[in-house]
Amino acid sequence: MNFNYYLPTEIIFGCGKVKELNRLIDKGTDNILIVTDKNVFEKSGAQGAVLNRLKDFRIEIFDEVEENPSFRTLIKGTKIAKESNAQLILGIGGGSPMDAAKGIAAFATNEVNVNDFFEGDDLSKDPLPVVCLPTTSGTGSEVTPYAIFTDMEKGKKVCFSKPGIFPKFSIIDPELSYSMPEHVAINTGVDALTHAIEAYLSLQTFPMNDLFAIEAVKTVLENLTRASQKDKVAMNKLAYASMQAGISITHASTILLHIMAYPLTVFHGIPHGKANAILLPAFLEFMKRKSFLKQKVNTIWDMFEEFGGVNNFITGLNIPTRLSSYGIRKEEFKNFARDTIIKDDIKITPAEVTEEDIIEIYTSTF
Ligand code: NAP
Ligand code: ZN
Repeated sequence: MNFNYYLPTEIIFGCGKVKELNRLIDKGTDNILIVTDKNVFEKSGAQGAVLNRLKDFRIEIFDEVEENPSFRTLIKGTKIAKESNAQLILGIGGGSPMDAAKGIAAFATNEVNVNDFFEGDDLSKDPLPVVCLPTTSGTGSEVTPYAIFTDMEKGKKVCFSKPGIFPKFSIIDPELSYSMPEHVAINTGVDALTHAIEAYLSLQTFPMNDLFAIEAVKTVLENLTRASQKDKVAMNKLAYASMQAGISITHASTILLHIMAYPLTVFHGIPHGKANAILLPAFLEFMKRKSFLKQKVNTIWDMFEEFGGVNNFITGLNIPTRLSSYGIRKEEFKNFARDTIIKDDIKITPAEVTEEDIIEIYTSTF
């Protein structure tokens, strides 16, 4: 067995823990840039809680982060970080503001063109320190070294990974997620579920990582319905499961399912987690037929049994699993598959996957 386990993010977990924010910021820090989404900042209660605690700092706020942040947002946020001499970037929101915060932290210290960077140019200087406060329970971005952006021109999602963008610390205060409407709680909860399943099946995982992944799968299955109905105990559990799933993908990555779901978001605006959930039953069917990790696939399959199987679990959350119900056309599958097969995550998927297989998976759920 070989593995590296690196998780430099200090995790502060618990209801009301946002109160500890000022205590945790380094003494030498004067200027902070908050990166967020205007609605979320207000609705989650973060605005009052955070600004109250940061009275001794010079605060700049960039609150224009949209779902699936674009290069334009990254460039605009970077400009504000530079102009305000930010020394720390505080990402508050779901995966979109947290990822934007990480990207801005990296670009604020470097003079690199965003397009060139995503084509392969590297960053020479370390990013600014990042701190994250999640308001959704899904992406786990608060504990990952990943940041995901959408290249609108090329019509694709691009991810970058650097140890320097691991948050310095993250405060996971489940109370900040209580304001999520039902559909956001579901879409983000199923994202955590798919992270845990994919990390568990990834060829990069190892037994210690599997413990978190399996526990996260179990917790989401048992609590997501109640969490979406605003049961606070269940919501607290989802915040924990999302973090566990995030730690699992930090060490094992996501695999085929996530890269197949990206075109659904880019070309049809389907929220990230929901896109994964739509394809989950077809993906697991494929794994059952083609994966060489039979026992692990059966373990996941069996965990869905008491919830009526994977398809019933997903449709029971009001997520139709037929691509045709989202206006997606069969003719698009070829392009989707062409974009998917070239991704590195194919290599850590535990099956021989061809472009035809990918088209077949999309078609089977049409
Ligand atoms: P999101 O895009 O951050 O948020 C979706 C919407 O949820 C927001 O626009 C907001 O709607 C609403 N919302 C969020 N928190 C709320 C709260 N507490 N109360 C009320 N409304 C709230 O969604 P996400 O699923 O968390 O993040 C998705 C992004 O993360 C994608 O770009 C995905 O690719 C990325 N991702 C990153 C990682 C990673 O490791 N870095 C992993 C997985 C996914 P309104 O603005 O309408 O109020
Ligand atoms: Zn995801």
